[in-house]
Amino acid sequence: MFTFDNYLFALLLVLVPLFIYYSYFYKKDTYRQQPWYFGLFCCVTIVISMSYPLELSSGHIYDLRTIPWLLAFLYAGLRMGIVATLLILVYRFFIGFDDGFFITLFAYVSSGFCIYLYLNKYRETSFKQRLYTSLTLTFINVLFVIIGILYFLENFNQTLLPSFFAYFIISHLVTIAIVVYIIETLQEKEKNSLKLQQAEKLKIVGEMAASVAHEIRNPLTVVKGFIQIFKSDQNLTTKQVSSIELIQSELLRAEKIINDYLSLAKSETTDLELVDLKDSIINVVQIMDSYALLHGTTIKNNIDTSFFISANRNELSQVFINLIKNGIEAIEEKNGVITIDAQQIRNHVEVKISDNGKGMSEEDMHRLGSPFYTTKHQGTGLGTMVCFKIIENLNGKIEVRSKVQEGTTFLISLPLKE
Ligand code: ADP
Ligand code: MG
Repeated sequence: MFTFDNYLFALLLVLVPLFIYYSYFYKKDTYRQQPWYFGLFCCVTIVISMSYPLELSSGHIYDLRTIPWLLAFLYAGLRMGIVATLLILVYRFFIGFDDGFFITLFAYVSSGFCIYLYLNKYRETSFKQRLYTSLTLTFINVLFVIIGILYFLENFNQTLLPSFFAYFIISHLVTIAIVVYIIETLQEKEKNSLKLQQAEKLKIVGEMAASVAHEIRNPLTVVKGFIQIFKSDQNLTTKQVSSIELIQSELLRAEKIINDYLSLAKSETTDLELVDLKDSIINVVQIMDSYALLHGTTIKNNIDTSFFISANRNELSQVFINLIKNGIEAIEEKNGVITIDAQQIRNHVEVKISDNGKGMSEEDMHRLGSPFYTTKHQGTGLGTMVCFKIIENLNGKIEVRSKVQEGTTFLISLPLKE
């Protein structure tokens, strides 16, 4: 009664929408950045699966709606998961207000709650962990369905019970494993190709920087020198002095922008040395303290142990300066706090720089690190890009977490030197 082609048909109904989504929609930025599009596909898959269930010869109805339902939670977020749950309930209600409806209500609401408990963890874990979690969650759901069947369904064909349940459990577990494997692989592939594009962009900007920035720096130095001489003239009016000071500050700004460009041009980190992260950050905090004060912000450095890494001292400082500066600039009201922590995770050190500023939307975060992306009047849109590049050259990783109106956290992971 439980034949393999039955299962293949149900599997096909789940896989086809998934492939359509990943072969077309996932490749477009607008769709990929809005997870609810994926949720929509899950909902469509649910409707298709429930519309074409398999009628087993024992009279039981069987379909794989659990799979897209779970995917909606895991890959489109809690809200789409709830939508998918409601969809299942409403659709099941229209099929019939019978025992089956109550089984569905019981099983999906209670296992939905279990998923809710797991959801935040799912984002951060590795591929293996995700596979394991999705298998567990599927098993929990299937278990609730089975409990529901045993409890609510009165005239269930008892003789076929064990084999039906075995078929039910195994087919669901196999399917979720296949589906999560496919999704994770495709997402990884897409991420890599995006990274490649980003690297390509970086290269172009870097080359441009190398040719232009250097040429500008020399005349700038000459101008700076002469301005200095002018300023020392005793016969200047106060108005002239303040004008000259303005020129100097603007020159300084221009120089800083050029330095940003020049550090982009350096493709490989040279001169690696053994650096104590703790010292480096204490140093940076000293430099940034007055800037922070100016913005009504305090910097709280919680690092009290040494972490030795192999890096270029100046570049490393630049990373922390850029990130702390961004944090300070993100504070809109007074009493902002920048918190800096570090901890060892296996053979890496993870530095955490958090602010309680205005935060970023998902879309902003995606654009972060691409050349010239800035929301500031006087911004260059190069700061974070330089950070990404420097950390990448050190075989490290930068991760950004942000919530609008709550703040932003930069997580920098670097390999420790023993
Ligand atoms: P710039 O600081 O010159 O604008 P960056 O590359 O440093 O360039 O930052 C790019 C943009 O990313 C900023 O304009 C800002 O909108 C956003 N951003 C960066 N860091 C933060 C942060 N900690 N909080 C909020 N927004 C941030
Ligand atoms: Mg910046």
